[in-house]
Amino acid sequence: MKIEQDAFIPYGRHTITEEDIDAVNEVLRNSLLTQGPLINSFEEAVASKVKAKFGVALNSATSALHVACLTLGLGPNDSLWTTPNTFVASANCGLYCNAKIDFIDISPMTGLINVEALKRKLQEARLTNSLPKILIPVHLAGSSCDMKSIFKLSQEYGFNVIEDASHAIGGEYNNEPVGSCKYSSITIFSFHPVKIITTGEGGLATTNDYSLYQRMKDLRSHGIVKDQKRFTQKEMSPWIYEQQVLGFNYRITDIQCALGISQLNRLEQTIVERNYLLNKYQDLTKDFPLRILEIPENVKSSVHLCIVRLNNSNPNLHRKIFQIMQSLGIGVQVHYTPVHLQPYFRKLGFKEGDFPESEKHGTNAISLPLFPGLADNQMKQIINSLSIAFDQANKEI
Ligand SMILES: *Cc1c(COP(=O)(O)O)cnc(C)c1O
Repeated sequence: MKIEQDAFIPYGRHTITEEDIDAVNEVLRNSLLTQGPLINSFEEAVASKVKAKFGVALNSATSALHVACLTLGLGPNDSLWTTPNTFVASANCGLYCNAKIDFIDISPMTGLINVEALKRKLQEARLTNSLPKILIPVHLAGSSCDMKSIFKLSQEYGFNVIEDASHAIGGEYNNEPVGSCKYSSITIFSFHPVKIITTGEGGLATTNDYSLYQRMKDLRSHGIVKDQKRFTQKEMSPWIYEQQVLGFNYRITDIQCALGISQLNRLEQTIVERNYLLNKYQDLTKDFPLRILEIPENVKSSVHLCIVRLNNSNPNLHRKIFQIMQSLGIGVQVHYTPVHLQPYFRKLGFKEGDFPESEKHGTNAISLPLFPGLADNQMKQIINSLSIAFDQANKEI
């Protein structure tokens, strides 16, 4: 797909090949559009790719996070913890279950959950009897959190871990694929078009626990059970289904799964290309007053994003650079403005100063465009724009 040199360059975008189009056409011509065989095929393909036993595909990662929380029993008297440096969905899933939300600050070098801060908060929470039921570490930009330490804490303090790996399919932690659930109960992936692979909209939960798998599948489709062996009202006729719990219509379609299977076939290639582009950015930005977020040593990142932190922490400089880049046609973004400072979360009682590292990150992080197919001349255009932006911004502040 060609992009005009002077056209707006987004921070991320999908890639669609002729094979992808053929795969979708094949469904449209020959197969069921939904609740057909491709959903299982996609689930099995992802699960086997990331070395998990089971996969449940849903219409979004947000839905996957919601059913994952319900499946782990999250309710009104429970707490869910995550980091403020994430997309709002990582916290909203707890609110859907009427649980209390709280946050753990990040490490500034990586942007990932600060395990020392987590430890301190757990120690305090134990004293006040307010330990969380679920922790959602977020693999920001495709880099896994320190899952071994988090797992150890989860054993010690008795909480469940859901990995938000929306950015991280294709990544590795300690030579294990992200999603293997070696150190968690459930891992969530997103297939929104800006993510690593896409199904248009879509998400998937992996787990190694059969009962969690079954429960998530039930919740995906109204809480309806069709397997007669599981019926509670045995005298019912064979054509009857049972609704056993309150579920949703969070189903994904076969059309989407066909695209997902085709995209998954290129996963390794995509990760190689994303890592190549990040290395190139390392080179091209080395004379700028900024640094690219660090990738922890035992992590192979899927490089969902190229997040840079400006050395100068003046929020005005940040705003200026952002605006100038946008005006030059470079679709920079901020990943993320801390969730706890969103108006909705302020109403829940959160305020400035609650999570200082996330707040600093939010006022000096910028994501530069990174996606497979980003051409050399586009990168040149981005770097030129960055020079212009720094020159101009330094004059204005
Ligand atoms: C994109 C994203 C989600 C939500 O994914 P959807 O598939 O759009 O629902 C959740 N968490 C993080 C960190 C994300 O980036």
